[in-house]
Amino acid sequence: MATALIGLGGNVGDPVAAMSAALEAIATHSRCRVTAVSRLYRTPPWGKTDQAWFFNAAARVETALEAAALLDLALGIERANRRVRTERWGPRTLDIDILDYDGRVIVSDRLTIPHPRMTERAFVLMPLADIAPDYRIEGRAVTERLGDVDSSGIEIADASPDWWRKA
Ligand code: ADP
Ligand code: MG
Repeated sequence: MATALIGLGGNVGDPVAAMSAALEAIATHSRCRVTAVSRLYRTPPWGKTDQAWFFNAAARVETALEAAALLDLALGIERANRRVRTERWGPRTLDIDILDYDGRVIVSDRLTIPHPRMTERAFVLMPLADIAPDYRIEGRAVTERLGDVDSSGIEIADASPDWWRKA
């Protein structure tokens, strides 16, 4: 079994329902277990700022799937939730990123792990700090890296780690 860390987010339609459905789909997959889920965050848009606020969360997944198969699962779940992917960093129903896969470095056409942009994104690091505060990305722990980024405006939307089971 491998341990993966994933990030989830969305800002169109009902992103919390989409993120809950995504976690449920992973949790019920025969080759995956969801072993930790962060609190639910509400975060200001990043990159392209003239769009709705996002919801973000992170989860730890124990899986027998290879990284590429886990990506296929994530992209299939995104499609099932009718993700709108019109422009980079633009509005989307559901985004699932594989942040880490068993501490491995993977670079292929479809997959870069650790996720290259997570260290600059407070909306990734804050949820990640809930479930993996000591996880090191290129030598520095998540909690240390959080000190380097701007996390202003980020709010806790639901402090229960079971927020995704409520729907
Ligand atoms: P971002 O998540 O940076 O906003 P997108 O979600 O639009 O960008 O990009 C999706 C594509 O990124 C996927 O089709 C996938 O092939 C590629 N990708 C590369 N590395 C990863 C990763 N670690 N997790 C998820 N997708 C990745
Ligand atoms: Mg993505």
